[in-house]
Amino acid sequence: MAQRLRQVSETVQSLAAQTPADVRDPGQPVRLLPVTKFFPAADVAALWEAGVRAVGENREQEASRKAAELAPLTGSGLRWEHIGQLQTNKAKSAVRWAGSVHSVDRPGLVQALGRAWSLAVSRWEAEEGPAPAAYADGGLECFIQVGLSAASAPGQAASGSRGGADPTEVAQLAEAVAATPGLRLAGLMAVAPQAEDPAAAFARLRELSAALRREHPEAVEISAGMSADLADAIRWGSTRVRVGSAIMGPRPRG
Ligand SMILES: *Cc1c(COP(=O)(O)O)cnc(C)c1O
Repeated sequence: MAQRLRQVSETVQSLAAQTPADVRDPGQPVRLLPVTKFFPAADVAALWEAGVRAVGENREQEASRKAAELAPLTGSGLRWEHIGQLQTNKAKSAVRWAGSVHSVDRPGLVQALGRAWSLAVSRWEAEEGPAPAAYADGGLECFIQVGLSAASAPGQAASGSRGGADPTEVAQLAEAVAATPGLRLAGLMAVAPQAEDPAAAFARLRELSAALRREHPEAVEISAGMSADLADAIRWGSTRVRVGSAIMGPRPRG
């Protein structure tokens, strides 16, 4: 696993260095986020030993359990990022362990995360509970997940693609995140549609990101690229690639 991690990491760095200058802002790094869903906490600990300081998880309960199991590492700076669909009623739990949420795709989730954050902070101030995981960062890093399906008409992206808000909803969601205390707008996240060349989809994501940054200059992150399409994602400006199987091997049955 450590060897695969090193290989993927080298691939990511060399692809990043090859990104055309009009796509990647100078000095903008590409971060590799190993995805550890379905793998036991012991594997996360092994990644930590190999130098990994942030991992992605896509099931709230599983992530919450693993973060607790690895509390000493979490306390030493291991960061947990939520990359999967998040139910509104899991927001309270998620702010306890998540430094980032990559899947903000609807106004109700923005509200729920904001409320969960405020509640956790007041409880912490009253010495009734722990601070939110992202407290030291100054807020929960939020990515707006956008659906990239080319074929879908406005309003249908969520059904035609693999999750995410319709591109026409991004501006409003970004506004909501930016206006919510405790939430920090990082940028956009997407999963390439299955029925299309990922490069074309990531090129559209790049355009959406440029439009978002005109309103929110701080929202420079693009969370895009998985094991199978990370080269296309980096070519089109991804700043964070979420890589599971290429590092961890085939996923065990959950
Ligand atoms: C599982 C998952 C990944 C990693 O997928 P691999 O193909 O194993 O690299 C990336 N992003 C999301 C949202 C995932 O759920």
